[in-house]
Amino acid sequence: MRHQGIGMTSRRTRERMVKRLMEQGVWNAAVLDAIRDTPRHIFVEEALASRAYEDTALPIGYNQTISQPYIVARMTELILQNRRPEKVLEVGTGSGYQTAVLARLVPKVYSVERIFPLQRQARQRLLELRVRNVIYKHSDGGWGWEDHAPYDAILVTAAPPKIPHKLLEQMAVGGIMVIPVGRGTEQALQRVIRTDDGCEMDVVGRVSFVPFLSGSH
Ligand code: SAH
Repeated sequence: MRHQGIGMTSRRTRERMVKRLMEQGVWNAAVLDAIRDTPRHIFVEEALASRAYEDTALPIGYNQTISQPYIVARMTELILQNRRPEKVLEVGTGSGYQTAVLARLVPKVYSVERIFPLQRQARQRLLELRVRNVIYKHSDGGWGWEDHAPYDAILVTAAPPKIPHKLLEQMAVGGIMVIPVGRGTEQALQRVIRTDDGCEMDVVGRVSFVPFLSGSH
C-alpha cells in the first residue's frame, strides 16, 4: 500500500488542519467534514506527502500546483452559500484534491483539465478513493462543458485575464461562479451570481493561482 507511514497519523494531522481552517474563518461544517475526510497526501508526490497538511500550495508537475487548503475550503464554502448545488463544473482538475472535496458535498461534479497526464492521474486517485460522482474531460475549460450545462455552480482554479464568456453562458439562473481573475501572480477572486437578466459580481479576496492556459498543448 502506498504512503503507509503517513497513513497512520494523517487523520490526526488532518484534524489539526481543520482546526487551523476554523481559526482562519472557515465555518461551514459540511466543508470542514469533507476536508477532514479527504486524504490530501495521496494527491501529491510521495516525496512531498509529509508536507501535505501544511497550509500551502505544492508542486504537482507540469508547472502546476495543488491549491492551498485554505483556498480550497474558502472557494468550496462560497459555492455552497446560496443553496446546495446539484451540478458543479470545475475548471482545472489538477491533482484532483479539490475535485474529491467537492464530490463529497454535491451530487455531480464535471471536471475539466487541459493537461492530460494530470487528468489521468487525478482520475486514478479518485478511483482509488471510490469517488464515483465525477465525470472528467480533457479540454480547454475556457469552453466550459456545454453538454451538461447549465451548472448551479462553477469553480475555476486557474486565473484567466478575464472571465470566459462561455462560462457565464453555462451558469443556471441563481447559480454561482467563483473564479480568480487577473494577470500576474496576484488576482482578484471574483464571485458571480447569475440573475434573470444578467449577473452580479463582487470581489471576495486576493489570491494567487497559476495562469489559465489557452490554445493547444
Ligand atoms: N484544484 C487543483 C488546482 C490545480 S492548478 C488542485 O488543487 O490540484 C490549476 C489547474 O488548472 C492545472 O492543473 C492546470 O493545468 C489547469 N488549467 C489551466 N488552464 C486550464 C484551462 N484553460 N482549462 C482546463 N484546465 C486548465
